[in-house]
Amino acid sequence: GPVKKKFNFRRTTNVYQEKPRSKAVREVALIAKNRDERRQRQANEKAIKQAILKEENGNPYWEFAMMIRDFREKINFHPLKADDPVVESQITVCVRKRPLNDKEQRNREVDVITIPSKDRLILHEPKNKVDLTKYLENQQFRFDYVFDHTTTNDVIYKFTAQPLVKTIFEGGMATCFAYGQTGAGKTHTMGGEFKGKHQNFTNGIYGLVARDVFTYLRDPRYRNMNYVVSASFFEIYGKMVFDLLAKKQRLRVLEDGQQVVQVVGLTERVVGSVNDVLELIQKGSLERMCGQTSANTNSSRSHAVFQILIRHPGLKKLQGKFSLIDLAGNERGADTSKSNRQTRIEGADINKSLLALKECIRALGKKGAHCPFRGSKLTQVLRDSFIGEKSRTCMIALISPGVASWEHTLNTLRYADRVKELVVGNDDDK
Ligand code: ADP
Ligand code: MG
Repeated sequence: GPVKKKFNFRRTTNVYQEKPRSKAVREVALIAKNRDERRQRQANEKAIKQAILKEENGNPYWEFAMMIRDFREKINFHPLKADDPVVESQITVCVRKRPLNDKEQRNREVDVITIPSKDRLILHEPKNKVDLTKYLENQQFRFDYVFDHTTTNDVIYKFTAQPLVKTIFEGGMATCFAYGQTGAGKTHTMGGEFKGKHQNFTNGIYGLVARDVFTYLRDPRYRNMNYVVSASFFEIYGKMVFDLLAKKQRLRVLEDGQQVVQVVGLTERVVGSVNDVLELIQKGSLERMCGQTSANTNSSRSHAVFQILIRHPGLKKLQGKFSLIDLAGNERGADTSKSNRQTRIEGADINKSLLALKECIRALGKKGAHCPFRGSKLTQVLRDSFIGEKSRTCMIALISPGVASWEHTLNTLRYADRVKELVVGNDDDK
């Protein structure tokens, strides 16, 4: 009947198909078997590798650590060398990555910053797919210079502030900013390297600028000018200004009809040697630190401005001014939703000042562009630094390498990138 017929039909077709395919089927099966074995082997190797990593390091970020390690194994490194030439420009923007600190190491944090060459940086953004598999999103940036965790303050100084010292002798204004998250290394870079609580002011950018200013004074070109060198040090906290060389006396900021901005009563000490300057730096730095425990004074919420001025003798006409600024922690600018009202207002002030600063630096680089200096106290007191063709500025963006800081780090890199937009382009290692 129909059942048998159907059976026969199926059987016939099976027999018919099996004969000519048999060899091919065997080959396919062999390939599949080899593939399965290979996959099994690879999976085993991977599992062992991962187990070792997990066992040995107890690392909660081991998957990202492996991916970043694989990434680094595949690229060539051409880091900056201390004797590389310095490229002069009106605006210099660079990034410094500090080493992982003790706490980050204890937490087994992965270093998510790769620096393949002297002007490139990659942030490995840790990501999860919907199925929770982990992957990296690699964000590439380019800056004038990128300094890795082995770079010392001396080398950073050579490529950032040092080329600007001559600017103030040539009648221009110079500024150098340290920007970044609290704990990323702003004060370490500007004030000097820390050894425990002790800070070595001779190797910070402030002290190094002072050293070179006195070297220039003795130069045959300037020796007979009889310039007078002086220094001031103040702090901007919200809309208030405090004199760090006068027991944090509160000062007013006035603007005259010619838009000349003055910090009324600011201490300006005449200095005769590098040591005189170092003493002032120490005094002001200690003043800035003290009272940090009380609720509304915290150095990470204020901008510190250290200035070295060169004046003509007698007339006191200004020849040039170098302003060195240790900015408030940029993460404070994001303190807008959580926390109390006071913290929110402070956060908004910091945010506003950092945005105005970015626009003023950008305007310096574009002829005829508007500098919104009235946008904040910081840009208002630095107004004369953002005008004039002779004025030059540099920004050092400080970043923490740990995975836990990656979002703040990305914000810092994006900000620095906006200050001076360099095209990433090809990695043409010169
Ligand atoms: P910030 O001023 O940005 O808040 P600090 O300069 O105070 O940060 O640095 C925080 C800590 O990290 C300090 O103990 C400092 O010594 C250390 N540190 C910062 N940068 C470096 C670096 N490049 N090398 C070694 N330690 C650093
Ligand atoms: Mg600091």
